Amino acid sequence: MDFSLTEDQILLVDSLKGFARKELLPRYSHWDRTGSFPAELWPRMGEMGLFGLRVPEALGGTGLGYLDAGLAIEQVARGDFNLCYGILNACFAGDILSRFAAPDLCADWLTPLAAGEKVLCVCLTEPHCGSDAAAIRTRAVRDGGDYVITGEKSAITLLMAGDAGIVFAKTDPDKGARGVSAFLVPLDAPGLTRTPYEDMGARGIVRGSLFLDGVRVPEAHRIGPENAGFTQVMATFDYTRALIGLMCLGAAEQTLEETVTYVTGREAFGQPITRNQGVSFPLAEARSRLEMLRWLCYRTLWLRDAGLPHTAEAAMCKAEGPALCADVIRDCLVLHGHYGYTRDFPVEQRLRDVLGQIIADGTPQIMKMIIARHMLGRDKV
Ligand SMILES: Cc1cc2nc3c(=O)[nH]c(=O)nc-3n(C[C@H](O)[C@H](O)[C@H](O)COP(=O)(O)OP(=O)(O)OC[C@H]3O[C@@H](n4cnc5c(N)ncnc54)[C@H](O)[C@@H]3O)c2cc1C
Repeated sequence: MDFSLTEDQILLVDSLKGFARKELLPRYSHWDRTGSFPAELWPRMGEMGLFGLRVPEALGGTGLGYLDAGLAIEQVARGDFNLCYGILNACFAGDILSRFAAPDLCADWLTPLAAGEKVLCVCLTEPHCGSDAAAIRTRAVRDGGDYVITGEKSAITLLMAGDAGIVFAKTDPDKGARGVSAFLVPLDAPGLTRTPYEDMGARGIVRGSLFLDGVRVPEAHRIGPENAGFTQVMATFDYTRALIGLMCLGAAEQTLEETVTYVTGREAFGQPITRNQGVSFPLAEARSRLEMLRWLCYRTLWLRDAGLPHTAEAAMCKAEGPALCADVIRDCLVLHGHYGYTRDFPVEQRLRDVLGQIIADGTPQIMKMIIARHMLGRDKV
């Protein structure tokens, strides 16, 4: 067992740590206050290779491994948790397109995606269903060499800034999960409208609902074989769930460091507050729990890099990680006293931001179902 990072990985972590601290952290709260999409950071992040982590080198990506992507997202989250949604979407799109889409579609979309020139969204959830994703009602009907897509997608990250969506639709409604196909849909296509959300956190990721009314896409925009969309998306979630664990970890680690600085300089009852176990023990517990989470996520990504099964491990990262990090950040907020409740410190925003990741990409309940199925067998759960 070797837990050490390679020289390249250490270099990646160090350079992104500096980037996050100097260029992202100072403006983290700006996007929250204004509720605006950080468009000016997108080309810069593209230049840093952050949107090309899962794009093949031949198409302008870095072609790095899954663990490398996890190391990168953890560091970016220390500066700006919400920018990690852009990385997640790019990893998702990079993986799914490069593995299953036609070469021309990959060339048209993956190169500008990696450069930070185009934003891609993942459009699966619908107003009546999220956890039960196989119950989607959006329909894609063949018409000559095209598909005509009609339906509604909700909760879509980056939608209001998006250039294209990977839209999941039923091509064979009688077959449940086996009747779903994925399509790349340019978001300026006729028949599309979008409406924005007013979220409690992660406001810069400009979520929204997408309405598709007879939207026509050529057959070449179908990603992979017809009716194979559900399997594709589930296999990709196995990987993004570990990334989400590390994204939340980065935000919690940064908050913990800031809290150590704060409590070290604070006195009460004539002595530094750190002399109380009521202050030092939550910090020690947070440090220990975050360390456990880190190694679970790293190992899950290592398993994926090694081509080994990791579905249950990824569900564990997602079931426990965001909730654990939200608990750590809430404890840190309390250790800041009333200042933690103000907007003068980033801790309140981090709490609001991290909470969204408990729900996105599958709730803890759904993750526990996946883990239990692996333990007990699908027929027993
Ligand atoms: C910040 C954020 C970003 C998101 N981004 C995207 C995106 O980019 N693209 C996209 O497609 N979607 C996105 N989503 C949607 C997200 O994937 C869904 O919200 C999630 O899958 C849950 O679905 P739901 O909201 O419909 O809840 P429901 O499925 O209606 O569930 C409601 C509650 O019931 C529980 N529940 C449901 N079934 C069971 C069961 N069998 N056993 C126990 N409990 C159960 C759930 O755990 C949950 O607590 C995003 C959500 C958030 C919050």
